[in-house]
Amino acid sequence: MNIFKFGGASVNSATGVRNVVEILKKFSVNPLLVVISAMGKTTNALEKVLKHYMNNDPIALIESYKKVEDYHFSILHDLFEDSTHPVFGEVASIFNQLRGYIRKGHLYSSDRKGYDFEYDQIVSFGELISSSILHHYYISEGGKSQLLDVRDLIKTDATYRDAKVNWQQTTALIRQTFSGFNIEQFKPGTIAITQGFLGCDPNGNTTTLGREGSDFSAAIFAWSLKANEMTIWKDVPGVMNADPKWMPDAVRLETLSYREAVELAYYGASVIHPKTIKPLKNAGIALMVKSFIHPELPGTSIENINEWKISIPIFIRKQQQVLISISPRDFSFILEDNLSEIFRILSNFRVKVNVMQNSAINFSICVDDDPQKINPLILHLQKEYETRINQGLDLFTIRHYTDEAVNRIVNAREIMMELRTRNTFQAVLR
Ligand code: ASP
Ligand code: MG
Repeated sequence: MNIFKFGGASVNSATGVRNVVEILKKFSVNPLLVVISAMGKTTNALEKVLKHYMNNDPIALIESYKKVEDYHFSILHDLFEDSTHPVFGEVASIFNQLRGYIRKGHLYSSDRKGYDFEYDQIVSFGELISSSILHHYYISEGGKSQLLDVRDLIKTDATYRDAKVNWQQTTALIRQTFSGFNIEQFKPGTIAITQGFLGCDPNGNTTTLGREGSDFSAAIFAWSLKANEMTIWKDVPGVMNADPKWMPDAVRLETLSYREAVELAYYGASVIHPKTIKPLKNAGIALMVKSFIHPELPGTSIENINEWKISIPIFIRKQQQVLISISPRDFSFILEDNLSEIFRILSNFRVKVNVMQNSAINFSICVDDDPQKINPLILHLQKEYETRINQGLDLFTIRHYTDEAVNRIVNAREIMMELRTRNTFQAVLR
């Protein structure tokens, strides 16, 4: 069994969907499970819907909802000439559910649960829609496909927006489901399609695994099914030594060790979701990162390599960073007690630290600027600590840095924080 994951950029238009189906037809000589993300920027668009829903802004709510609906139907009309094709009814019924949900939540706003819960209920529709469209289009092109609702398979706790997988239950359900698939169903050309990013809590509510979580979804399947290989299809030729969108001379890395891949993901390389590598490494499953634009090219292969030698620096940029400086009001030192207290607060507010540094009476952390989390965090910290915040910063990490690489990044910008280890240079820049 092979696992393919396609991100939103691969299916952002009818042309994109056609291209993905061409790739699937070519590779479905082997049993194949396809994990798909929401189309294009749908997750962001649904986050806007959610924002207007939470703010009780009916006009903006309808407008933002309509945008998502129109976008998908324009792709559908391009893909299917016959507007009586059952896919239209099916996608319309998914949109009806979404519309019904937001209407009810709008009318009875006191019944709404928290932001994170509502997020998962609304934003999850992106994957439900994209998987249905891909499934139907693959069949209309002569393939055989089985559409699986991932919420029947990936079981999680109720940490909405960052749900933790119940591995035992999930693995059992996945294995059971796939052992029920008879081999006939997996003759060449037959695939299974399911949604990335989503899960289901013990009460049957939809959960999500964190932004860009579809890679992790695919890895959960790969691990559970002891897949031979997992492939993430992207709009770049493989894992690059920098994001080519901001560093045009970025080059492809042919291979990468699991260890280096984990480090890169940890530092924020958007190429792979950080949680993806562990299950693959534990099961010895090779991870391929390939281009959906040039599927014939080799891509990057991530494997168990002990002595992985890197010859060039790897650059990672994280934007929209905020630096928070925390000092005890009573001028006490930042020692174990204060530190463990601060970390407990950070964990309660589910704020992940990207870099940190401390001096005698100051502790500074650089985190993603997510106002939903940061604003309440600051309010809480201010009860006991003096806090200062600096927004609009970039965090750069260079693995295997050289002086030249550091100069290139820092240029003439103001360094707010800097850290160096033997392999890694990090700087927070204004
Ligand atoms: N659609 C979700 C997102 O954009 C999950 C994913 O693409 O991996 O974050
Ligand atoms: Mg995506």
